[in-house]
Amino acid sequence: MNFLTRKNIDLKVADAVSGGIASKLVERSDVCGLDAGVGKPRVLEAMTITHGFRDGTKVLQDFSIQIDAGEIISLLGPSGCGKTTTLRLIAGLEPLQKGTIKIGGSTASSEGIHTPPENRNVAMMFQDYALFPHLSVFDNVMFGLGRISREERRDRAIKALDDVGLSEYWDRKPATLSGGQQQRVALARAIAPNPQLLLLDEPFSDLDTELRRKVRTDTIRVLKSAGVGALMVTHDPEEALYMSDRIAVMKDGQIEQIGPPMDLYNNPRSLYVARLFSEINEFLGIVKNGMVETALGLAPASELKDGELATVMIRPEHVLIGDEAKAVPGAVDASLDLLKYLGRDAVMQAKLDNGDEVIIRTDIRNLPLDTSSVPIALDFKNSISFKK
Ligand code: ATP
Repeated sequence: MNFLTRKNIDLKVADAVSGGIASKLVERSDVCGLDAGVGKPRVLEAMTITHGFRDGTKVLQDFSIQIDAGEIISLLGPSGCGKTTTLRLIAGLEPLQKGTIKIGGSTASSEGIHTPPENRNVAMMFQDYALFPHLSVFDNVMFGLGRISREERRDRAIKALDDVGLSEYWDRKPATLSGGQQQRVALARAIAPNPQLLLLDEPFSDLDTELRRKVRTDTIRVLKSAGVGALMVTHDPEEALYMSDRIAVMKDGQIEQIGPPMDLYNNPRSLYVARLFSEINEFLGIVKNGMVETALGLAPASELKDGELATVMIRPEHVLIGDEAKAVPGAVDASLDLLKYLGRDAVMQAKLDNGDEVIIRTDIRNLPLDTSSVPIALDFKNSISFKK
């Protein structure tokens, strides 16, 4: 690492990199707040936020969310549902109209209270990284470390660059780094001040697919080891599933559902949430004796009342084909068209006699050679019936 020998860093850098300073900086005694009951301090508590703009746009309505130290939460939802506004209010870039925002247990925004952004112990990371092109990597990381001694600023910058694996690039200018390296500089700059909370707005959207995967993994590692709570805005459901401890799905300025990724994917509370995570099959029917009749058999609908109109939802990977389907009540033979070849999986479409189209996603090893007449059936253990 070339910076170990540089004169202009007059600190015991070797100690820092080998962990001496690291352990000191990792101590997060400044992180305090309400105990969330699971041994981790609560770093964010946003309660019943209602917010709009002067032109009459209502953006957030009774919005509440809590984040504990070390927890990564994604805000997922369509354009305009209020994700960025939420981040801006928490960062203090926008004065709050109604509700309360507590950071580390202290009220940062409420009626008559507005702690300025620089005093919130919250860091932000944007899509474009906002690095200063004329400053070196090291100076970019040092930049946000305002009010502490120069020596401590250096300690923290060294530690942060070490955490993101960029120590050897310390004297480069951002333009000489790859997109992934620039993202890591931005991450180092964000975590260097030891924030309690990091707000990320579409942080990986400029990276290509391959790099995104790697950078996501690195980011999770860095955030977890620093014990920072993170709230990340994303449009990408796959990213939310991969990165998050919990996902908050937003709709029209409210949280439609919040929970661990597996919960949201397998137990969506509404068709809106179900549709966000994958293509789905939907069958319309009337509830009778706690069941809905579909073209492929009876789907359970015990939570709905008899006579109600219902939509039965089933994900394409829960449509069975071939031998697996044969013995299932309601199975029919259908011809399959290959829609997408995805390497490990294939997406196919079956057209039923009644005109219904069924999307199927299957491991390519299950692809039948002859697709002209293949048994298909629904795995009703994995269907969900929603009131229409
Ligand atoms: P995207 O995913 O497209 O970034 P978003 O979910 O982050 O969208 P916001 O940027 O929070 O959405 O905007 C929510 C709504 O508030 C939108 O209808 C937007 O037009 C409106 N809005 C945002 N900022 C302002 C503003 N300064 N003045 C008026 N309306 C605004």
